[in-house]
Amino acid sequence: MFQAPRGTQDVLPEDVPYWTYVEEAARRFAVLYGYQEIRTPTFEDTELFSHGAGAATDVVEKEMYSFRDKGGKDLTLRAEGTAPVVRAYLEHGLHARPQPVRVFSLISVFRYDRPQAGRLREHHQFDCEAIGDEDPILDAEIITLLWRFFEAIGLKRLALQINSIGCPVCRPAYLERLRAHYAGFEETLCADCRRRMERNLLRLLDCKVTTCQPVADSAPAFLDYLCAACRAHFDRLKAELEAEGILSFPNHRLVRGLDYYTRTVFEVWPPQAGEQAAIGGGGRYDGLAEQIGGRPTPGVGFGTGIERLILNLRQQGVEVASSVRPAVYVAHLTDAARPAAAHFVRQLREAGVPTMAGVGVRSLRTRLRHADAAGVRWTALFGDDEVQAGTVSLRDMIAAVVETQPVAAALQRISGPASDVSA
Ligand SMILES: [Zn+2]
Ligand SMILES: [Zn+2]
Repeated sequence: MFQAPRGTQDVLPEDVPYWTYVEEAARRFAVLYGYQEIRTPTFEDTELFSHGAGAATDVVEKEMYSFRDKGGKDLTLRAEGTAPVVRAYLEHGLHARPQPVRVFSLISVFRYDRPQAGRLREHHQFDCEAIGDEDPILDAEIITLLWRFFEAIGLKRLALQINSIGCPVCRPAYLERLRAHYAGFEETLCADCRRRMERNLLRLLDCKVTTCQPVADSAPAFLDYLCAACRAHFDRLKAELEAEGILSFPNHRLVRGLDYYTRTVFEVWPPQAGEQAAIGGGGRYDGLAEQIGGRPTPGVGFGTGIERLILNLRQQGVEVASSVRPAVYVAHLTDAARPAAAHFVRQLREAGVPTMAGVGVRSLRTRLRHADAAGVRWTALFGDDEVQAGTVSLRDMIAAVVETQPVAAALQRISGPASDVSA
């Protein structure tokens, strides 16, 4: 017996309405803000991710699904959403279009990680990117889009955290201060943090290990060491968010997991933050295009995990309308009645009525049980008597009334305005 691989899941028909609810809202909001859909491949050159995300990040060191194909090429399943979109922007010369280029996608992301609730090895994301301009208005637009989308799908009591992690001008001096702060505590640090001291100083700040918390909490805040340009960028972002009426909290320990971020980083946290992670986040990545071999191109974007969103929607009691069911179940009770039943099915579908057809020859009782399970409004049955008389036995499943009537009349009744498909 096969099972779905660890860290993957099947979404059964009864769970799909949550997915379509979130995906439709995502598309609606992206379009509302002037974003167009883009679709990139499921796998890319491994180096796109290792150059983009940074070789010393967890994603690149431990979590990528990498393989060598039969032609000897090193490929990796999409490990995050931004680098592929920036790669496509560069490859297709989108800098020649009016800037910024605003795009969104609904994607699968693959990480070899310990599976937990809402965090799978194949998970799905709604991703938005605005590429080609460094105006902080764009940072505010991206955050506003994400925030309004969360509001629209019904999530409540969320908290927006923001930070700035500077630029190549101000970062080296800040990192030196950070190193000096941590140097006094080296014996108390976890093994990961001792490694980060050598390779990835910023990530010291988001260590989750208990013994590292006091050191990280008392660390100098980057916001106090920004250069003038980064300071102005951050202040403008805050003013823009305020004008939108969106409350944000500075968090000096917010740095995100990927090396390409510059200046703005942000995350949105659910109310029961303790047991789970952020439900969305992103930031500015002005150095990414160069890191993957392109011309310098600023950009800002977010990603939000669909599984995690659905988990939070359910926890917050947000109900979603169930999926569209067929309106009518049509079946034959004898082999001889099959052509009449098939003809009726054809007529209903031509009239645009979602119709489920019975297969095999089953008893009346079984037919009604199947119709009931399908949740249909009408059941139309054809036996030998009905075929002979040119009629059909039509059952109104709500009123529980059965009437034998001419086929044309039944067709009229089901497909006419009086029929309530959703009831
Ligand atoms: Zn700076
Ligand atoms: Zn640590």
